Amino acid sequence: MTATHLDSISIRAAAVAPSATLALTARVRELRAAGNDVIGFGAGEPDFTTPTPVCNAAIEALQGGMTHYVPVPGAPDSRSAVADVFRVRNGIECTADDVIISNGGKFSCYLAIQALVDPGDEVVLPTPAWLSYKPMVELAGGTVVEVETGPGDNFLAKPEAIAAAMTSKTKLVIINSPSNPCGTMYSPGQIRDIADVIAGHDRAWIMSDEIYDRLVYGGREHLSFGSLSNVANRTITINGLSKTWAATGWRVGWACAPGEGGAVIKAMSRLQSQSSSSITSFLNPAVVAACTKTDDEIEAMRVIFEQRAGLMFELVSAWPRVTCPPPAGAFYVFPDVSGTFGCTSPGGRPISSASTFAEALLEEAAVAVVPGESFLGCGGNHVRLSFATDEDSIGMGCTRVLEWLGALQD
Ligand code: GLU
Repeated sequence: MTATHLDSISIRAAAVAPSATLALTARVRELRAAGNDVIGFGAGEPDFTTPTPVCNAAIEALQGGMTHYVPVPGAPDSRSAVADVFRVRNGIECTADDVIISNGGKFSCYLAIQALVDPGDEVVLPTPAWLSYKPMVELAGGTVVEVETGPGDNFLAKPEAIAAAMTSKTKLVIINSPSNPCGTMYSPGQIRDIADVIAGHDRAWIMSDEIYDRLVYGGREHLSFGSLSNVANRTITINGLSKTWAATGWRVGWACAPGEGGAVIKAMSRLQSQSSSSITSFLNPAVVAACTKTDDEIEAMRVIFEQRAGLMFELVSAWPRVTCPPPAGAFYVFPDVSGTFGCTSPGGRPISSASTFAEALLEEAAVAVVPGESFLGCGGNHVRLSFATDEDSIGMGCTRVLEWLGALQD
């Protein structure tokens, strides 16, 4: 690229790095297409197909001619179906007017941040955290204030640490439970304690990314901030089709924010009207079907994920030089691999970071994991493995890693 071309790119766009998770997913796809037998623990996407009632609703709507513009925040019946789920399952008092449906949970997060954060505002983020929150905050001109957590506390931020990070400039606190990348989650008591801290700050909103709220293991209970009376009016709850309904490619997510007379949802809707317009028209009936006809399918997938969580944890726990907290939700484990730093891989590569670990593992053992640096905080000591893949692949991939780790040289 010439200097002229570089000069053409906005400062904003030039500063954004591509998503490392999506980049790794693309790389695995390419390696497989070239005939490599790669086991992918990279992508945060279920290997199941989207439940049939959801697919059928979209097909019927498409064939029935639902191919024109739809209302910006979503068709009334799909907003209403989502509001019903938020009310009944999450205990959030809301109506269809308090809901906006957007092109993926990721775009819902982006719009919520754009709707709330001004230049100079601070956004408190427990880390390690999903790697897109920080770029989104920075695209809005805000500054991320990290609250660092670690494996010793199951990657859960203490209320007093969140309190210490909050100032008069705090506009938003982002909580993602169950967590991507950590696979751990806050208990209801911990959620209440954090809510009490945030309730003491008049300006601060909560963006509670609950995209994994139905993928919870060991009988744990998930509690939504939006159901708590002291923060309900300042909480934006994010969810969507991608994870629960194994529909990552559909790009359908939603947000609910009943507070302030629905001002945040209205602002997100204005932003959506000037950017993507709406979700794809014929996916609206699919949202209704997802919200009303798929409880059994969702539970069946959750049970399988829970079995995989147990298997993955058992196998990873047997790896030398590596430690890992047990997964409580979502479909990730986030082991600490810093015990390998300073070693040389079987193929002669020096291991000095999560990235060099992941690169050597992919090249030499054909196993893809996400290096943790982009997840911030102590992430640089960790790699993320997704167990949204079948048990045979989990077994085979973990055996390859075990053998590769066993051949590391000090
Ligand atoms: N959220 C998924 C992941 O972390 C999908 C990719 C992305 O958007 O980051 O793998």
